[in-house]
Amino acid sequence: MTTYLTGLNSKLESTYDAALLSGSLNFIASETQTITETEFNIECEICFAPALAIKPQGIAPVVEAKSHENIQKVNPFLPHDPALFVQDASEHHKILLNKFCVVPRHFLIVTKDFHPQTQPLSPDDLLTAWNALQELKASHPDAIAFYNCGARSGASQPHKHLQVIPTTHPTPITNLVREVIQRRPGRKETRPGDHFSVPFPCINHAILLQDPENNPAGKDAEDILIEAYISLMDSMLLSIREYAEQEHLSDEEKDLVMAGGRASGLAYNWILTREFMMMVPRRQESTNPSEDGISLNINSLGFAGTVLAKTTEELELVKKRGLMEIVAETGFMFGKDGEGRSKEEEAQKKKEQEVLEKQMGGALSSL
Ligand code: AMP
Repeated sequence: MTTYLTGLNSKLESTYDAALLSGSLNFIASETQTITETEFNIECEICFAPALAIKPQGIAPVVEAKSHENIQKVNPFLPHDPALFVQDASEHHKILLNKFCVVPRHFLIVTKDFHPQTQPLSPDDLLTAWNALQELKASHPDAIAFYNCGARSGASQPHKHLQVIPTTHPTPITNLVREVIQRRPGRKETRPGDHFSVPFPCINHAILLQDPENNPAGKDAEDILIEAYISLMDSMLLSIREYAEQEHLSDEEKDLVMAGGRASGLAYNWILTREFMMMVPRRQESTNPSEDGISLNINSLGFAGTVLAKTTEELELVKKRGLMEIVAETGFMFGKDGEGRSKEEEAQKKKEQEVLEKQMGGALSSL
């Protein structure tokens, strides 16, 4: 590992304390309510934060800006607020504290030069996020990194930035992945390097990461990360294509979701922990409006099992409809009868059904 990130945790702490004290950073107090979901009884989280209304929402118009001068005028990361600068993360990345954080020391891994948030992650981006998680291993073993890529992904800033939440407990998605693996011994998803989907009601692809210190092919972290990212991207594109065909989307909608074949038009959320990488393609930025016209803007954290509610109406809506359901409708949701499920998903569902039936049979016969 490079030495760029050495001492990250203590630098995060000292920069955070100073920025809070000087008023450069706003910690947004929230109350967390849990809602139990999935067959695995995972506790998903709704962070109720009425003060969030002060945070600017939506992609800033700078995304359209052509000149570097224009970008600089409105880009909060270039130049950045010196009070929020923690340290360099690599030759090409810097670490900034999130100016409006709900979780203390939520930080951003920002490219030093301007690159658009619509760009795929580079090997350097992947490795830098991974190195940050490794550096935090002792203090925050369950920290989670994410990237909101593209216009419908829930990103609000157009300058390329990955994010890390140094959580003090595993996020719901980490618990869900662990449950899936634990309860399905012998299945392919328990083998690092293989693909699986978490039981979220929309297209998603995940992969357990091989251990860079101990894998048969002797791959290093960079190889493992690049391989995982590319194969998840491949699977994601294939799934969207299959979905578009099965759901008989109009040409216009097909063009939108397939981005007309342009990688820069794709929207997806990407999650990385020290255990797994996950990718969820996005069809829309916000949940469908309720009867009262309420909808929530969803980003990667939604697929990590956490959403932010700014009003009691939003809080009640999530509780009523279920967090996963509401989040999934911003992705490519499976039809009620399984329509829209990819062939791979369909086969997996069938296998799960068979295992369940066998287990039920076993349980009944032992009565
Ligand atoms: P996203 O909304 O996912 O694109 O993430 C961008 C993050 O940048 C948001 O969570 C904002 O709170 C944060 N942010 C906005 N302005 C600044 C700033 N001047 N410095 C650091 N972080 C900022």
